[in-house]
Amino acid sequence: MMELKNKRVLVVGLGKSGKSAALFLHERGAKVTVSDSRSAEALAGEIPALLDAGIMVETGGHGLLTFRRQDLIVVSPGVPYDTPELKQVRAFGLPIIGELELASRFLQGQVVAITGSNGKTTTTSLLGKIFADAGGPTLVGGNIGTPVIDLIAQSTPLTTSVIEVSSFQLETVVEFRPHIAVVLNITPDHLDRHRTFENYAAMKARITAQQTPEDFFVLNAEGKPTQMLAAHTKAQVFWFSGRRQIKQGAFVHGESIVFLPREGAKPEPVMPLADIPLKGAHNVENVLAAVCAAKLGGVSAESIRSSVAKFKAVEHRLEFVAKIRDILFFNDSKATNVDATKKALEAFPGGVHLILGGKDKNSDYTELADLIRARVKVVYTIGSAAEKIERHLAGVVKIVSAGMLDVAVRQATQLAVAGDVVLLAPACASFDQFTSYEHRGRVFKGLVKGLASGPI
Ligand code: ADP
Repeated sequence: MMELKNKRVLVVGLGKSGKSAALFLHERGAKVTVSDSRSAEALAGEIPALLDAGIMVETGGHGLLTFRRQDLIVVSPGVPYDTPELKQVRAFGLPIIGELELASRFLQGQVVAITGSNGKTTTTSLLGKIFADAGGPTLVGGNIGTPVIDLIAQSTPLTTSVIEVSSFQLETVVEFRPHIAVVLNITPDHLDRHRTFENYAAMKARITAQQTPEDFFVLNAEGKPTQMLAAHTKAQVFWFSGRRQIKQGAFVHGESIVFLPREGAKPEPVMPLADIPLKGAHNVENVLAAVCAAKLGGVSAESIRSSVAKFKAVEHRLEFVAKIRDILFFNDSKATNVDATKKALEAFPGGVHLILGGKDKNSDYTELADLIRARVKVVYTIGSAAEKIERHLAGVVKIVSAGMLDVAVRQATQLAVAGDVVLLAPACASFDQFTSYEHRGRVFKGLVKGLASGPI
């Protein structure tokens, strides 16, 4: 555990986890300053509580002097790794860590960490439920909601903490050592920040960097990027696959999920596929990953089966909204990258009216062309990425330039016939027209509910 008393610590970025980190450090006796590039007005809601606690606050940018005078810098995941200030600070040799690293040095018990390009929140909440239902003290946090820092107070040596970890958080880990680490998949995302796919994949590998042979590394057996990670770990590798039998881990055998504890052993039946209440092959993968991690964590097959069977889709993840005039409406606002949109499309055989667009993340939408040709009747574009999407999908499908989400929903409802699906799976970030993907999803659901009550 690190000593914080009288240490001068700068917390960069006053988001949810930054604020928690600042208060935690302060409680442990550190001399804390918080620095955020937003203006004092924008942060007016946050500042008084920090000042009252005796924490110094710098707004509207980061003064280099503020950085120089510290013993430790704690950066929030939202802050780019290589801002000019951080580059300079690194040159001074000051330690820079993230909230996850800080928290993991104080968190008691065992950690199960889940990362990947898609499926993290679904798998984390499912696995959290499986461990909690099995009866042991369980905490769930990280990227999914509660900052890991806020789990510390409740953790004991017997606690299992199931933590969703983003690639941004992995940028700043040093000693972070999960007992069970899961990488669900690695597909292009956040290339606006990580620049190359190789950088992004390397970042995901950091989840296992401190693991030892006593630990477990659970990997998706399908796909080169996750396969390649097996060569970069000291932990015991377990696999999951929806397509074939693997050496050890969880896989689909006939119509069931089974677990193979070691090479050559007899597979143990865990649950029938029919008991999975979530839509789409990608969710079978999420369940397989959770089954594998839960078995490694000592949960019985029967307990896993009953927890999975009761699980409900997390809001905004291929969430069923309504059936109106025999048209089905699904909210997959969390499909903020091309791969997630592909997975959503794969869950429907055809007749899809697909709403695409938002803020582009340097994505290649031509990758959607084959699935769209096969399953989508009309694409409705919204947001600032619309023009690029229309260029990438020219000639593939009928495209309606809707511009705004309400126009898209209205037009889709007019063009759809009984049996069709209206799907918001936009393959883009939301920040051009909405404050978050949650906001976008709620607006979509509100529009659909509005249709249900009005004439169409
Ligand atoms: P994350 O936390 O990694 O963003 P979520 O569970 O919130 O993952 O899901 C994000 C999006 O990805 C949703 O659109 C969801 O339907 C889709 N998705 C979920 N699991 C997977 C998976 N295993 N592979 C691809 N897409 C997935």
